[in-house]
Parts: sequence; structure tokens; C-alpha cells
Amino acid sequence: MSPVPVWAPDDARGGRPGQEAVRKRAGRAGPAGGWWHAVLVAETPEPLTPLDESWERALCVVAHPDDLEFGAAAAVARWTGQGKSVAYCMVTSGEAGIDGMDPDECRRVREEEQRRSAAVVGVDVVEFLGQPDGVLDYGVPLREVIAAAVRRHRPEIVITGNFHDTWGGASLNQADHIAVGRAVLDAVRDAGNRWIFREQVEGDGLEPWGGVREVWAFGSPRSGHGVDTSETFEAGVASLEAHRAYIDGLGWEHFDAREFLEGNARQTGQRMGVAFAAAFEVFAMGWGG
Ligand SMILES: [Zn+2]
Repeated sequence: MSPVPVWAPDDARGGRPGQEAVRKRAGRAGPAGGWWHAVLVAETPEPLTPLDESWERALCVVAHPDDLEFGAAAAVARWTGQGKSVAYCMVTSGEAGIDGMDPDECRRVREEEQRRSAAVVGVDVVEFLGQPDGVLDYGVPLREVIAAAVRRHRPEIVITGNFHDTWGGASLNQADHIAVGRAVLDAVRDAGNRWIFREQVEGDGLEPWGGVREVWAFGSPRSGHGVDTSETFEAGVASLEAHRAYIDGLGWEHFDAREFLEGNARQTGQRMGVAFAAAFEVFAMGWGG
């Protein structure tokens, strides 16, 4: 692959082992007043391990409508195309997501967009947990509503979004994403224990479910696994484009869903030797496994 140019301070010594840095003088002032150099890193990116696809049921749990479409929808289309069952669970309705739209109206619009977006990739079960957009707290109440969803759907795989502090580099993640991802990991374990949130078992007729083998987080800067999405890439684009009111509301000039997704998918594909792919960080949920 072509070298990836990155900016580094002029005392940089060529990065990690395996990277070959070529420095070139460039006329750009660094933050400390010194000169920075463009470091060309001629590195083959680390290969991704193919995800285990020997499962029948997955549940996607994310903070907002549109989250899945920015990193996982093409993969979901692949799996539903294989006959697997995938359900979506939105912790909020993204009602605080459009500056020029009142939350009550926004909730209705975004739920509708999410249902259409899901249908494009073969998902017809879309739930909204009704938690407050933008101000989610990581904690026991959040774990409780997610554990109930896991007990209802009884998935083998749970998919969520990146919940690290950043997307890699300096780009900060969002508070709801971090709260949800952390709560998902805990709620998956809570769901298997009949004495945790026991009113769900004793009063609501839910059974404990300890069958989740792995949690997969898309968009993670620590992704080590991937799945080929070359055949379903277009469905992923259409799925993101279904969030039209949201995308327009962002006010990102010239945002192009295809271009955005293609950049990521192509780069990830190179790590699997395919045209397009989606990357995931895998958390094994078994004890000691
Ligand atoms: Zn989000």
C-alpha cells in the first residue's frame, strides 16, 4: 500500500518497529515554534483476523439512531444476507441531535429514519429504549435496561460502537457512546445472572441469558478483527443515506455518505486483502476464555 503521511515533531525517530520513516523538510511551523517534518510511514497495516461468523442471532446496542450506519451497516447486511437474525436496540432516539428541530419532533423523525435504515440492511426489529439523548450516565440503571434487552433477544453476539475516549488520534468520542459501550459489556454479564435485576426474571417473565459469546465494537481504534463487506457495501451506503434529516441537520457541507464510508471501508479492506471491509474490536465474554 502507499505510505501514509503523518505529521510528527522533528525529534520523532521514525515511529514503531516495522515502520520505515522518511523525513522531508516541510515548511510548517510546529506548536512549540520548531519545524515539523512530514514523516512518510511505509508500513503495511496490521492484518485483521476474520470475525467468527458461526452464529445465528446478534443484537446491536448503540446510543443513537445513525451510529450503526457510520461503521457497521454493511456488515449487518452481509449477515442478514446469510440468513442470520440481527435486531437493533437504540438506547436513545437521538432526539437532541438536530439543532433546528424540537426534540419531540426530532424523536419521531429519527425513529422513522432508523426503521427505514434498518430495513435496507435486512433488519426488521428496531427497539428504542427511551433513555435521554446526550446525557446518558454509565451506571446501574443503564445496565438494567440493556440487560433486559439482552434477555429479550438472547443473542450470541452483541454489537456496539467504539467506547474508547477517542476514535484514534485526537478525535474525541462522544459521552453517550462511551457510557453505552461500557454498560453493554457489564449488562451482557448481568443478563446471565438471575439474581441481578431479578424483578425482570421474577416479575417480567424474562429468563436469564448467558449465551453471549462475544461483544464486538465497531469503529474502535483497537480493532483487531474484520469482515469483508465488498458485496454489501452499497446497502451500507443506502442505510446511511436513510438518515437524511439528521445528515442535513448536521450542516456538514458537501457530506457524501458514499465517500465517507468508502474511505474507511477501503482502508480496512486493505488489512484483509479485499476491496471493502469493516473492523471490530472483539471482547470475549466467557470467563478465563
Ligand atoms: Zn452517536
